[in-house]
Amino acid sequence: METLIDSTIEVQQLFSQQKNYAKKLRKTTTQDRIAKLKKLEKLILQYQNQLVEAIYKDFGKPAAETVATEVLPTITEIRHTIKNLKSWLKPKNVSPTLPLLGTTSKVYVEPKGVTLIIAPWNYPFQLAMNPLVSAIAAGNCAIIKPSELTPHTSALLAQLVKELATAEEIAVVEGGVEVSTALLDLPFDHIFFTGSPAVGKIVMRAAAKHLTSVTLELGGKSPVVIDETADLQDTAQKLLWGKCVNAGQTCIAPDYVLVQESVKQPFLEALKKQLDIFYNPQQQGTEQSASLARIVNTKHFQRIGGLIDDAVQRGATVAYGGKRNESSRFIEPTVLTDVNYDMTVMQDEIFGTVLPVLTYKKLDDALAAIDQLPKPLAMYIFSQSQKNIDYLIKHSTAGGTCVNDCLIHIAHPDLPFGGVNNSGIGRSHGYAGFLEFCNQRAVLQQRVGWTSIKLLYPPYTNKVDKLLKLMLDWL
Ligand code: NAD
Repeated sequence: METLIDSTIEVQQLFSQQKNYAKKLRKTTTQDRIAKLKKLEKLILQYQNQLVEAIYKDFGKPAAETVATEVLPTITEIRHTIKNLKSWLKPKNVSPTLPLLGTTSKVYVEPKGVTLIIAPWNYPFQLAMNPLVSAIAAGNCAIIKPSELTPHTSALLAQLVKELATAEEIAVVEGGVEVSTALLDLPFDHIFFTGSPAVGKIVMRAAAKHLTSVTLELGGKSPVVIDETADLQDTAQKLLWGKCVNAGQTCIAPDYVLVQESVKQPFLEALKKQLDIFYNPQQQGTEQSASLARIVNTKHFQRIGGLIDDAVQRGATVAYGGKRNESSRFIEPTVLTDVNYDMTVMQDEIFGTVLPVLTYKKLDDALAAIDQLPKPLAMYIFSQSQKNIDYLIKHSTAGGTCVNDCLIHIAHPDLPFGGVNNSGIGRSHGYAGFLEFCNQRAVLQQRVGWTSIKLLYPPYTNKVDKLLKLMLDWL
């Protein structure tokens, strides 16, 4: 393939070219960067139909889902960035403190330089493009390494980027682990990685060799807490959409449910009813649904099937679904009850349309259950009680939280998106994402010759000691 650069030497050459070009790029104006973003927007809209086709070939994703979850978020990110870039790039004034009277201070944002964007397969377009928008806005060069598991989309991405810029500015390098490893060996100025916590650790180790800064957008098990005040039909509808979009292969997909014991049965009934409304409206079986994507490959199909089998073997009940077809990599949305924490389904991120439902009596029991697992990327709360909502937020932690809805907190460009510890480091989207690609340079300028700081200069007489004491007491 023409765009495949699989030798370490070629990757190094590309990196050196970008390193040189980065010096030119840092001088670009707001208007230059906006022009590049507008070109990107135009190309994405031009490529939209091809993208829908490519992702369908990769994992059978319905066209409407591709437009809603790949094209729309990227276009939103571009437009939001274009609208705000002038103010983001403007140096921010900082008022002087008392001892620093006579000085002016500003925070300048400057590009980091040459950046690496490593993307996963599950949203193979937007998770490469959105960080690219931030990289362009901040004035960086970028090398994008898309996932090898979605080859049609990765090839399309490479084609689009070739039309956007020369390789010395932005390049796509296709390939798998070996290419990723060769890239990670280089002294990038920033690495923006989206993927699993396991590979995130490899990325961070590699970055440490050059003290390269990292943004790690990782995954994990995102819990859903439903209390007895929740509107159960509305909850079931929103939760199922969040779980089943992209066939559950979403980093912030609701992973498992903790429902208050008193409403477990009506909740399960609401869930079953909604499953039929969404995916079995003609009663021909969910496999006939044109609204469900497929699992990306056989390895993941077998992994998810294994989670169901392991849970059933250990005593779980399939309350809904359970059908599978390996040849089409179809897994029916499957609701599991009688689940416990010994089951693999409650240990690993599910990343598929399997929904374990557990119960709790008191809110503190739900919080204790969430606490057993690493800090999640997202937490969902369904409740009509503001007191309960506030209590749950105050006594838990998560990268982000959505109350009485699912996934949509990711859609707000002014809400920083990211994880905490195991679910990630750093933030993406909007201004927060832009800042990840910037060095925030603090600049203080002295305006006067004599300043009070001079009173602290040597020799360190009693006068200096007294002044220091005064400062400690009064500043
Ligand atoms: P992955 O970690 O397997 O792969 C991600 C990227 O890393 C790919 O480009 C891959 O080629 C590369 N890679 C894989 N192994 C590598 C290695 N040993 N050394 C160097 N590079 C390597 O992740 P995935 O399976 O593509 O994506 C699924 C994971 O990503 C899930 O955990 C999901 O939650 C997470 N995710 C997070 C977000 C987020 O925004 N936080 C978004 C989407 C997906």
